[in-house]
Amino acid sequence: HLSKLPDVGTTIFTVMSKMAVDHNAINLSQGYPDFPSDPALIELVVRAMRDGLNQYAPMPGLLSLREAISEKTASLYGRLYDPVSEVTVTAGATQALFTAISAFIYPGDEVILFAPAYDSYLPAVELYGGKARVVQMKPPAYKPDWEEVESLITDRTKMLVINSPHNPTGTVWDEQDMKTLQDLAVRYDFMVLSDEVYEHIIFDGIHHQSASKFEALAQRSLVTASFGKTFHNTGWKLGYCLAPSGLMEEFRKVHQYNVFSVNRPVQEGLAAYLKDPRNYLNLGQFYQEKRDHFLKMVSGSRFELLPSSGTYFQLLDYSSISDEGDVQFAESLTVEKGLATIPTSVFNPGGEDFRQLRVCFAKTTETLDKAAEIINAVQ
Ligand code: PMP
Ligand code: GLN
Repeated sequence: HLSKLPDVGTTIFTVMSKMAVDHNAINLSQGYPDFPSDPALIELVVRAMRDGLNQYAPMPGLLSLREAISEKTASLYGRLYDPVSEVTVTAGATQALFTAISAFIYPGDEVILFAPAYDSYLPAVELYGGKARVVQMKPPAYKPDWEEVESLITDRTKMLVINSPHNPTGTVWDEQDMKTLQDLAVRYDFMVLSDEVYEHIIFDGIHHQSASKFEALAQRSLVTASFGKTFHNTGWKLGYCLAPSGLMEEFRKVHQYNVFSVNRPVQEGLAAYLKDPRNYLNLGQFYQEKRDHFLKMVSGSRFELLPSSGTYFQLLDYSSISDEGDVQFAESLTVEKGLATIPTSVFNPGGEDFRQLRVCFAKTTETLDKAAEIINAVQ
């Protein structure tokens, strides 16, 4: 039989996390915390289970959770999404992204991606017959050249997929980027899928520029978010999608047959937990301290440290250490030195290998210190 996704193998996250286990390596590869979620949140979820709230949630998500999401979004970004018709709770951002792409992309539609790009966008676009046009972003800034973006727009351009704060580079788009994007979206009439899973993990006093803050942009955007990133429980796979009702109606047509609805007791717990803004507003400071501790610990190493303004990722450039390709370099580092990272070329299929590794600093001080020892010993 013919494969619908001939170029797709096992994702790098599975490969590197397995390699880390097989070689007993410190795992700074796949992005997830190695410390627990707030016990108060766990208690809320467990209580919901004990209270018997274990049957299907409503198709778009619990109304109380959708209301809490709507309130959070309005207070942070100033746009009111109607909890009834414009908010849908999903099985993580991955499902929201996939559902959004499948609901809107027809064969022959062109989708503009910004490389390096999170690895789930391209297969979803291709599975629905879309054609990706890729804007290559380059180190150290990893920001798009907007003239290049405009030059790739054609009358078949249906959607742009954006991601700020950006995995894997830690780059954050500013207000001007969003205004330029908004102008293009209105002028050329395309949709935007805005992956904002790291919205609260942003440093140095920078403010997240959500697509929902820009009214003309918000009218043509689907915004995706992830509770796993925000509340340190990536294994719960809970997230959501925001969109104006016309777009959300189409999104839900797919969602209802894709999953119908998602984890009920976790939704119950999150609905209560989300009411206290301190539970997410302190996250930037929390991760900034981790970033700064890690940077201090590895400042004397031979790796060049790229700027990270958001996400829980940091890029390490090893081009002055080795000429090896990054997949090979990451494998040797895991197998021979005991440290698993992500080679960034996997986010850039067909593009350049910039000789950079991504490390995840969502780890305890103890883990970060052990990792730093290995990084500092690389000659
Ligand atoms: N988008 C980006 C940019 C991510 O980094 C991740 C998680 N690694 C996701 C989407 C998926 O989020 P979730 O785990 O909620 O599916
Ligand atoms: N988002 C996580 C990362 O970038 C991993 C998600 C996954 O394993 N698919 O590391």
